[in-house]
Amino acid sequence: MGFDILNYASSLQCRELHMAIQDDIDLKAIVAIHNTTLGPALGGCRWIEYPSTESAVVDAIRLAQAMTYKAALARLPLGGGKLVLLKPKQVNNKETYFKAVGRFVNSLDGRYITAVDSGTSTNDMDIIATETKHVTSTTQSVFSVADPSIMTAEGVEKGIAAAVKIKLGRESLQGIQVSIQGLGHAGYHLAKNLHARGASLTVYDINPTAVDRCVQEFSAKTVNSIEALLALPVDVFSPCALGAILNDKTIPLLKAPIIAGSANNQLAESRHGVELMQRGILYAPDYVINAGGLIYVAAQISHMTEEAANLKVRGIYETLLEIFQRSQLENISPEEIANKIAEERLRG
Ligand code: NAD
Repeated sequence: MGFDILNYASSLQCRELHMAIQDDIDLKAIVAIHNTTLGPALGGCRWIEYPSTESAVVDAIRLAQAMTYKAALARLPLGGGKLVLLKPKQVNNKETYFKAVGRFVNSLDGRYITAVDSGTSTNDMDIIATETKHVTSTTQSVFSVADPSIMTAEGVEKGIAAAVKIKLGRESLQGIQVSIQGLGHAGYHLAKNLHARGASLTVYDINPTAVDRCVQEFSAKTVNSIEALLALPVDVFSPCALGAILNDKTIPLLKAPIIAGSANNQLAESRHGVELMQRGILYAPDYVINAGGLIYVAAQISHMTEEAANLKVRGIYETLLEIFQRSQLENISPEEIANKIAEERLRG
C-alpha cells in the first residue's frame, strides 16, 4: 500500500493540511497547521527542491509539529505551522510567484502566519506582504535586527554555552572546538558569534563559497565531506543545514560529546535521541535551542519590546540547563524532557 498522508498527519496530531497549485508559475505549495491551542500557527516558508511530493508533505507536517512544541517551550502565544514550497527548476518572475504564495497564506484567514525559512529571504516576505498581513520577518522589522536568523544564531550560541557548562564543566566558550555543518543564514551568524567568543571552528557546506567566507573571516578550518566532519574529535558538533542528520549511519561516526545546532528535525527518528544519550552524547533538542528567530518575530507581532525579546532569546541558556539537569535526574533523554514540558503546556 502507498503512503497515506492523512494517516501520517493524524499520527503526529497535525490538524490541517492545505495545498495550492498554480500551473502557469509552477507553484506547488503546502501549509501544515499542526496545532492552534495556544494561538495562531506561526512557522517559516521553506523553499527548497524536494525529490517527491510525499517528502515535501512529510517535511511540512514534521516542521509544523516542531513549531508547536517550540512555541510552547518558549512560552509564546502561538501554535505551530509551516509552509513548504516545492522549488521549481526555474522561476521566471519571483514577484508573481511570491504574490501567489501571499494569496494562498491570506486564504487561511490568519490561522497560519508565515515567516522566513530555508531558501526564502526577508525580501520574499516583502512580496508576500503585498497580498496578506499574515506575514512576519519582512525587511520592515520594528526591531534593530531585521533578519531573525541572527537571533536564532544568538540562541544557539547560548544553548551551546549551556551544554558546554553541563557536559564539560566550562563557563566560557574560549578555546572550545566546534564543527558546523551548514553555513547559511543561521550557520554563518553562529560561526561569527562563536569566533568572537574565542571558539575554534571547522566548517562544512555543500556550497564552497559559504565555506570560503568562514575560512577567510573566522580562520575556520574545513573538511571535504560530512563524514569527515562528523568524525572530528571536537567538543561540539553543530548541525545547521537540513534535517535528519542524526541517524543510524551518522551517529556511529560521531566523536563530539555535544550536539547543539540550529537545524530543525535533527533526529531522523525520536529513538535516535535515546541512542545519543546511551552513547554519552549530550543532545540539545533542536526546537528548544533554535527558538531565537521565532521569539524575535513573535515578539514583534505581540508588541513585546526589543529588550524583552532579547532577554527571552538569552533565556534559552536557562531553559536548556533545566532540561539537561532534569534529563540527568530522571534518566530520560533531553528530547523527551522537552516534549513532556511542551505537552504539559499544551494541555493547559
Ligand atoms: P539556509 O538555507 O540559509 O542555509 C542552509 C545551508 O546549509 C546552506 O548554506 C546550504 O548550502 C547548506 N547545506 C544544505 N545541505 C547541506 C548538506 N547536506 N551538507 C552541508 N551543508 C548543507 O538555512 P538557514 O536559515 O541557515 O537554516 C538552517 C537550518 O536551521 C534549517 O534546518 C532551518 O530550518 C533551521 N532553522 C533556521 C532558523 C533561522 O532563523 N534561519 C530558525 C530555526 C531553525
